[in-house]
Amino acid sequence: MAADLEAEVQAIDKSLLECSAEEIAVKWLQANDLQKEVYQHLAYYVPKIYCRGPNPAPQREDMLAQHVLLGPMEWYLCGEDPAFGFPKLEQANKPSHLCGRVFKVGEPTYSCRDCAVDPTCVLCMECFLGSIHREHRYRMTTSGGGGFCDCGDTEAWKEGPYCQKHELNTSETAEEEDPLVQLPEDMVARAYNIFAITFKYAVDILTWEKENELPGLEMIEKSDTYYCMLFNDEVHTYEQVIYTLQKAVNCTQKEAIGFATTVDRDGRRSVRYGDFQYCDQAKSVIVRNTSRQTKPLKVQVMHSSIVAHQSFGLKLLTWLGSVIGYSDGLRRILCQVGLQEGPEGENSSLVDKLMLYDSKLWKGARNVYHQLFMSSLLMDLKYKKLFAIRFARNYERLQSDFMKDDHDREFSIADLSIQIFTVPSLARMLITEENLMTTIIKTFMDHLRHRDIQGRFQFERYTALQAFKFRRVQSLILDLKYVLISKPTEWSDDLRHKFLEGFDAFLELLKCMQGMDPITRQVGQHIEMEPEWEAAFTLQMKLTLVISMMQDWCALDEKVLIEAYKKCLTVLMQCHSGFTDGEQPIVLSMCGHSVETIRYCVSQEKVSIHLPVSRLLAGLHVLLSKTEVAYKFPELLPLSELSPPMLIEHPLRCLVLCAQVHAGMWRRNGFSLVNQIYYYHNVKCRREMFDKDIIMLQTGVSMMDPNHFLMIMLSRFELYQIFSTPDYGKRFSTENTNKDVVQQNNTLIEEMLYLIIMIVGERFSPGIGQVNATDEIKREIIHQLSIRPMAHSELVKALPEDENRETGMESVIEEVACFKKPGLTGRGLYELKPECARNFNLYFYHFSRAEQSKAEEAQRKLKRQNREDTALPPPALPPFCPLFASLINILQSDVMLCIMGTILQWAVEHNGYAWSESMLQRVLHLLGMALQEEKQHLENLSEENVVTFTFTQKISKPGDAPSNSPSILAMLETLQNAPHLEVHKDMIRWILKTFNTIKKLRESSSTSPVAETEGTIMEESSRDKDKAERKRKAEIARLRREKIMAQMSEMQRHFINENKELFQQTLEELDTSTSGVLFFECSSPVISDAKLTALGPEQTRVAEHRQVVMCILCQEEQEVKVDSRAMVLAAFIQRSTVLSKNRNKIIPDPEKYDPLFMHPDLSCGTHTGSCGHIMHAHCWQRYFDAVQAKEQRRQQRLRVHTSYDVENGEFLCPLCECLSNTVIPLLPPPRVLFNRLDIAGQPNLAQWIKTTSQQIKALYLLRDEDCASKSEEISGNSEKMDQLQLPEGFRPDFKPKNPYSESIKEMLTTFGTATYKVGLKVHPNEEDPRVPIMCWGSCAYTIQTIERILADEDKPLFGHLPCRQDDCLTSLTRFAAAHWTVSSLSAVQGHFCTLLASLVPNEKNGDVPCILDIDMFHLLVSLVLSFPAIHCQDFSGVSLGTGDLHLFHLVTMAHIIQILLTSSTEDNGMDQEDTNSEEEVAVLTLYKFLCQCTGSALKEISSGWHLWRNLKAGIMPFLRCSALFFHYLNGVPAPSEIQVNGTNQFEHLCSYLSLPNNLTCLFQENSEILNTLIESWCSNNEVKRYLEGKRDAISYARESNKLIDLPDDYSCLINQASNFSCPKSGGDKSRAPTLCLVCGTMLCSQSYCCQTELEGEDVGACTAHTYTCGSGVGIFLRVRECQVLFLAGKTKGCFYPPPYLDDYGETDQGLRRGNPLHLCKERFKKIQKLWQQHSITEEIGHAQEANQTLVGIDWQHL
Ligand SMILES: [Zn+2]
Ligand SMILES: [Zn+2]
Ligand SMILES: [Zn+2]
Ligand SMILES: [Zn+2]
Ligand SMILES: [Zn+2]
Ligand SMILES: [Zn+2]
Ligand SMILES: [Zn+2]
Repeated sequence: MAADLEAEVQAIDKSLLECSAEEIAVKWLQANDLQKEVYQHLAYYVPKIYCRGPNPAPQREDMLAQHVLLGPMEWYLCGEDPAFGFPKLEQANKPSHLCGRVFKVGEPTYSCRDCAVDPTCVLCMECFLGSIHREHRYRMTTSGGGGFCDCGDTEAWKEGPYCQKHELNTSETAEEEDPLVQLPEDMVARAYNIFAITFKYAVDILTWEKENELPGLEMIEKSDTYYCMLFNDEVHTYEQVIYTLQKAVNCTQKEAIGFATTVDRDGRRSVRYGDFQYCDQAKSVIVRNTSRQTKPLKVQVMHSSIVAHQSFGLKLLTWLGSVIGYSDGLRRILCQVGLQEGPEGENSSLVDKLMLYDSKLWKGARNVYHQLFMSSLLMDLKYKKLFAIRFARNYERLQSDFMKDDHDREFSIADLSIQIFTVPSLARMLITEENLMTTIIKTFMDHLRHRDIQGRFQFERYTALQAFKFRRVQSLILDLKYVLISKPTEWSDDLRHKFLEGFDAFLELLKCMQGMDPITRQVGQHIEMEPEWEAAFTLQMKLTLVISMMQDWCALDEKVLIEAYKKCLTVLMQCHSGFTDGEQPIVLSMCGHSVETIRYCVSQEKVSIHLPVSRLLAGLHVLLSKTEVAYKFPELLPLSELSPPMLIEHPLRCLVLCAQVHAGMWRRNGFSLVNQIYYYHNVKCRREMFDKDIIMLQTGVSMMDPNHFLMIMLSRFELYQIFSTPDYGKRFSTENTNKDVVQQNNTLIEEMLYLIIMIVGERFSPGIGQVNATDEIKREIIHQLSIRPMAHSELVKALPEDENRETGMESVIEEVACFKKPGLTGRGLYELKPECARNFNLYFYHFSRAEQSKAEEAQRKLKRQNREDTALPPPALPPFCPLFASLINILQSDVMLCIMGTILQWAVEHNGYAWSESMLQRVLHLLGMALQEEKQHLENLSEENVVTFTFTQKISKPGDAPSNSPSILAMLETLQNAPHLEVHKDMIRWILKTFNTIKKLRESSSTSPVAETEGTIMEESSRDKDKAERKRKAEIARLRREKIMAQMSEMQRHFINENKELFQQTLEELDTSTSGVLFFECSSPVISDAKLTALGPEQTRVAEHRQVVMCILCQEEQEVKVDSRAMVLAAFIQRSTVLSKNRNKIIPDPEKYDPLFMHPDLSCGTHTGSCGHIMHAHCWQRYFDAVQAKEQRRQQRLRVHTSYDVENGEFLCPLCECLSNTVIPLLPPPRVLFNRLDIAGQPNLAQWIKTTSQQIKALYLLRDEDCASKSEEISGNSEKMDQLQLPEGFRPDFKPKNPYSESIKEMLTTFGTATYKVGLKVHPNEEDPRVPIMCWGSCAYTIQTIERILADEDKPLFGHLPCRQDDCLTSLTRFAAAHWTVSSLSAVQGHFCTLLASLVPNEKNGDVPCILDIDMFHLLVSLVLSFPAIHCQDFSGVSLGTGDLHLFHLVTMAHIIQILLTSSTEDNGMDQEDTNSEEEVAVLTLYKFLCQCTGSALKEISSGWHLWRNLKAGIMPFLRCSALFFHYLNGVPAPSEIQVNGTNQFEHLCSYLSLPNNLTCLFQENSEILNTLIESWCSNNEVKRYLEGKRDAISYARESNKLIDLPDDYSCLINQASNFSCPKSGGDKSRAPTLCLVCGTMLCSQSYCCQTELEGEDVGACTAHTYTCGSGVGIFLRVRECQVLFLAGKTKGCFYPPPYLDDYGETDQGLRRGNPLHLCKERFKKIQKLWQQHSITEEIGHAQEANQTLVGIDWQHL
């Protein structure tokens, strides 16, 4: 069947290919009815090309469509071969000066903070790089797709609208020339014809709704072929769709994923092809399966020809888009065709039809036509305007469609508003001509129909659908913002009129919000359900900027401002109507003043936080003051209509509510209220909420008698009784009052005083005080930095942003702060300049409570450091603007003085709870403010002015009769000496001092001289007393500190647990400073001047040291001895590819893999690390069992996982919580145990090799015999025994006794098995003969990694290792050397034999790798460590050291040959010195011998100088590793020369290792045996193949692996990533491009398309990659997020700060701020070091322990 279909398709292709485009075009040119001709053509051919089978075949379809369908159209259009026609058009066209590049998803876009008219103006990368903005403060983001480059749009940029490339195109453009002029007339006509027909065809077919017929096209042959088409929605998840499809259409999961991915991307995909019934059946299954919870997935059964025509329709639209790219003239024609009204009148143009059908189209179709609109209508200046009008007229309809649509806004035509409304000229035109503002606001209101009886918005009991709609409708606010974003410079009457009309609509909107979500205090029981509050606040938050912008517009035109003010006032009065209904007013009177007010209690009646109308009026009122409209046109303003008590009423209630919440009176109303109060003050809302309420109160005070104001305020705070009743305070001492109520009242008094401080002191908004906008920002920054130094982003967050996302910070920050650069961690910080501290106001109104107390503490500390007194007096303030000037009198009003006097009186009486210190502190602050005010008045006194502010006089007078209270001044003087007010003394003293200064000022301005006042004398005497008191206090403080310190050390352990990171740091410091703590007795080596030799018979003897260590778990000390209980180090074993030179190599079958020889590409090693903490083996065992038991319980109960994998034997070090998976036993130097004999006259190399070969031979024979005897084949046995001549002293039957204690033996097995298990990724099996090999390998590999780190950092070999690494290597080496005692002797002997056979061939081991394929250091370690297994049976008197030495020399020589064979560089660019030293001559001779052995296949090299240097460089890492190895093995201290960096390192190393300085001497000394050996090595087949160039080999020295190079500019990476498409879904842009920092591969992470199966589990691309690239460990850069990702295994991962910083020294994870980012090399090095040190897994462990949420992430899906 499938084959038939294929054949059919082939056949059709042929007939189609015979079509001639030219002939068809000619036919069309002669046709009378062109449309009919074209339609017939399409009706016939389209179904033959498209939709011929179940799956689309885009390439074939495209090819055929071009040939048969589009070709003729192009011929027709051009009137000639389009291959000539189009280039001609292009040439004649003047290139556009608009860029218009449409952004792909993830493409970087740039905006200029200095020049962009609004943040939506962006440039593509190419334009940006060629623009002046490169040098400006730019902002970088990644596009979400859609939108285009604004380069060349003069309206988008204040400066530099063109990049270099587009600038060129502007020079010759004659202004506004009609582009049609450039086209030949006949072509214009043809273009009209063909565009009209094709555009109409496409629109008709795309908007066609019938499933079985076609518009105007006859179906030639109606076959029974249908598609079951599945459509995208945003309701169902990927998983649901995949699951459903598998059921409905019987496909595999993979196919289902494919379908789902396409549906998600294109919006629809056919999931079944066949006859109608077959498709309909699938449809019903899908619908049935998905209709249970939500609305069902949309599925449609469509006839194949309809689908075919729709496919071609889309193709046509794309084609039109590309054709108009050739010529501006064609573009204009297409625009004209598109906007031409059809016969049906209004909304009948093709463009209208598409727009209005938008929400019914699938995603892919929308994308195509949106793009066409962008490249046509929006690129033509004339038609952009016409289109904008069409868009605005349809606005309401389009938005309503969008509300019902379930696609995201980016896929909706409604989203084009950003392209249209942000163009200032268009926006203005649409406002005046289309009344756009009103339309938007009305549409918005229309969609929020849910109201309460007063007509206010109501969000309570919102259904899910309404909530969904509410989310969508918010985008309209965004549109309103776009329209308002650029403010008019000139106002026409029309604009005024339409703006005010919009303003009316806006007021209607605000009116619906005024008083919404009212709340009543809950008494008795707690509220049952938290009320909905978020919707109202969301609305407020979204509108905040719009409200501010409305005010900005009003400020620009006096007429508009006056009108707006009037309108706003009227609406406010409407809101307030009925506000005093029914209640009798009450009269308040105090201090001889009385006022009428309504009876209202916040704590008993309804109150609302939402008062946008009042607040808008407050804002406008300030503008009246700021723009001086109030003074210029007072007669036009309804100022007399204002009723101040009415204005302040609601804002005051709101502020009282906050105070009462703070006093705990609203606890039963739950968290929703707390949240609302939080947002009310929050930076996102406060500008149009809290701030404006304060302004409204300021407005009120300035317009009324302050005594009246204060009495009303007292009444609203429910404190009137307290202050109007004399001696209220005294009652507490006698009566048994409710403490809670007293406490509550105290808090309310504090809050009220705070409010008064704010009303008087907050005058930094232009219009209230005589300040400008920068003063306001400066003050905000000063107060933020008073809390502590802050990073740039923290400051930005704390400041309100305007519509351009600017805070204005940049312009002032330099004046108030100094920038401190970041170190290796942390970020750059701004620090307050010291001189700015005097502007600090403790009662700054934007401080939260916590911030206030932190700031107070910080500022007092600063003062103490500067040895100043610690008073924090109010700062000097700017004067008020005239409209607010009378406000100041509140401070000297009678009621105020009465309140202050009363509180001071309470403080003097100091009885019970009737007062609080914060109350007093606030009164003192208020007194200070009043004095500052008076002082400033006096200082600025000019002749005419009379000072009406006489605060000093008023506070000097005693209180009114009958109470006869003392004057405020007198009370202050009393308080100055009160013992209970120590903290406030400095402030009281400051007040008294200021009082005296003012007095002097007054006296100097009047004439009478006056003597010193009493005050100063008192001040003096009290100062002495003060000193004594302070001393006493200091002593007490010291004692207390000591006690705390003692407690601290007790808590240390606890503390360590809670402060891991800190502790980690200290550990590292300790590591370097106290190296040797562990093995403390070996800290001073006894051997001093003698030459130190690490191995061989000449090895320096080291005195044995007693080693005593302490268990971190039981704190007991114990000596490390062979026969004592085992002590262990916590250790972590991991596979590693850090040194790999071949990342593609994978072990195919670990069960069968033979690890005996390590390949020199080091593709996968086993690394062991340790934190260096020691435990008893049994203590550890108990701890580990407990951890395991606990985890099992926890997992059963909570199903949560830990950061470590208990099932895999992982645990955290009990002290430092370092991730570990096993323990290494501590051992005494193991060699000493077996080095029984040490006699002079040791064999030389040749003799030794001979003896050893004999021993090996004997062993083989014995083993064969063994096998034979077991299989009972006795015959010939004796014969073999005869052959066997046992070498002298060799006793193969000898079984050595294991010297270690049981407990140590157990640990040897434990660690060995763990190394085997992790290293090979197999199940543990302690019997496996590969166990010892893995142990030696891990020892060798770990030493190699450490040697590399030291070399890369240019550190000397010894003396610079942190203690923990030193301990780890000691234990690891000793362990590896001792492990053979617990494994099978014959197995280890066998390994030795095979290993040695690679250098000294024998008949038995023919199958060993050639020397090019062996890592010589691994070979050395394995040989030396397996050798004791043979040597223990050798009683001939040869020392173990001799064997070591010969083995070492042998391997070294093999390595030299290896290096010489692979040495590729004859000329390494170094200048040759003409020395011909002994070494050079010798190495040249050796090389020549090699040439002979290889049959002259070796390259000829004549320079001994080069060879010798090459050899030295190549062998150095090997020698350094060997020195480390023998040092740890034999414990010989390193000579001091190699503990420091210096010259002659090579010579010192050779001497330490018992090697001649001239390495080639080794060959000369042993020439007899070596010549044969070299010959045998060179004769190996692989060596031959290498020399013939048939294979590769590693050459030496191997270079260290580094992480990849990263570009300096982060945008390069973004650009690179945006060009990266998912490798699995044909050219699709990847959503989460992620870069492997180890190998540089770009991956498509976190996406279904690139999931693969790994060990039976689906994993993401990153996890899969780590298995090949990093042996399970990976370091990635998530490019879109600018975040480093660490992965280890399938379950572990964490994010890590990226090495990219902005100019403020901060990272930008998530790229939210968009500041330019540059590579910080030091930080990148730090990441590299983590990798080289194998600390990635450990880092993840620490991160996960610190942040438990990381544990829950499905890292394997990344
Ligand atoms: Zn551009
Ligand atoms: Zn450009
Ligand atoms: Zn700029
Ligand atoms: Zn212990
Ligand atoms: Zn530890
Ligand atoms: Zn990689
Ligand atoms: Zn992918």
